Order: sequence, then structure tokens, then C-alpha cells
Amino acid sequence: MSTLQKNLQKIQSTIPPQVTLVAISKTKPVQDIMEAYQAGQKIFGENKVQELVQKYETLPKDIQWHLVGHLQTNKVKYIAPFVTLIHSVDSLKLLEAIQQQGAKNQRKISILLQVYIAKEETKFGLDQTELEEICGQASRFNYVNIEGVMGMATNTDNEAVVRNEFKNLKKNFLNVKSVYFAQSPAFRHISMGMSSDYIMAIEEGSTMVRVGSLIFGDR
Ligand SMILES: *Cc1c(COP(=O)(O)O)cnc(C)c1O
Repeated sequence: MSTLQKNLQKIQSTIPPQVTLVAISKTKPVQDIMEAYQAGQKIFGENKVQELVQKYETLPKDIQWHLVGHLQTNKVKYIAPFVTLIHSVDSLKLLEAIQQQGAKNQRKISILLQVYIAKEETKFGLDQTELEEICGQASRFNYVNIEGVMGMATNTDNEAVVRNEFKNLKKNFLNVKSVYFAQSPAFRHISMGMSSDYIMAIEEGSTMVRVGSLIFGDR
């Protein structure tokens, strides 16, 4: 077994079965992805559209590809035919574009709403008001499956800060679920947790962790 495969196995052994591991392979070569694939990992995430498309075209077709990075509306068309989950919907305008491409491709595209939980200006995401505004209109997006929320915590060593941000995301999730998605079992995911904090994120209710460097090494 390779180092990469050992890393992967170690992480998998710490993740409960109901939590999905998304292996974040951005900047890593297809050979690394194949090593993880051969060890059983079938879900990979990328943060750039062009790289995602290239890897999709090269690699086995039973891989499920997630987009975790900021998405521009004019690039939705490149991933709409095949993407399994877009984690990073951060505007109504983007949701409209996904709806349009879903209709064009005659497939329902699954997405998460990215919520702004960090204390860093550089991070993307919806604030409370924007989140509720989008959720209130959910029913008109008939080519989109809204499956939950995603958040990125502040990049800090302060565990209390990160834990609190995870708690806030869980609260946001429960709130919009009860108000707007009470009849929608598909609204079920909280995507939170990366290499440095995925264990804490699971403790705080994450259903989907996005782990990159702990599997593939530093970028
Ligand atoms: C890069 C990235 C990750 C993974 O980060 P690691 O620290 O390498 O685990 C998770 N989520 C998003 C949105 C990313 O861009």
C-alpha cells in the first residue's frame, strides 16, 4: 500500500459511516487520484472548473465529481452535464444559471448553499438574509436539488473560534430546514470540515467532510 493509500485508510477509519468523505484533489496529478481510487475512494472535489473538466475527461467514469470552489455563472455550462454536487452556491444569480443549465441538460443538478460563517473578508458565502431569501424561492428551481449547506471556518489555530463557527452553521441548517425544507428529505447535508478540523466538524454535526492535504500531502 502506498503512503497516500495509508493516509486515506487512516482518515476513513476515523469517519463514521453516515459521513461522506470528499477527497479534495485540487492541483494534484491524475496518478494520485488513481491511487486513491484504487483504494476505494470514488468521490473527489476540485475548486477550479477547468481542472475539474480535464480530470473528469481523463479518469474513470464512476468517479463522482464535486465542485467546492467559487463558481462563476458563465462557467456552469462546462460542468452541468456531469457534476455530482456543487458545494459553493453563494448567490441567487448563480442558482439561476444552474437552473438554466439543468433544464438545458435535462438533469437535476445537486447543490449546497455556501453560508458565510468565518471572520475573514476573503471567504465567499451567503449571509443570513440572503440564505433565507434563496430558500424562500427554492420551489421554483425545479432543475436544482438543494441538498443542504456548506461552510468554511476561519483559518486559525483557535479551536474555540472554529467550533463556534461550525455550531453556527449547524444552527443555520436546522433553521432553514425547519422553515423551508420541512417536506424535503433531500435537504440533509452540512458540508464542513477540512484536513485541520474535520474531526471537530463531525463532532458538531458535519455530514460531509472535504479533506485534501491529509490525503494527498501539502500543495
Ligand atoms: C482546498 C479545500 C479544501 C481542503 O483543504 P485541506 O486543508 O487540504 O484539507 C476543502 N474545502 C475547500 C473549499 C477547499 O478549497
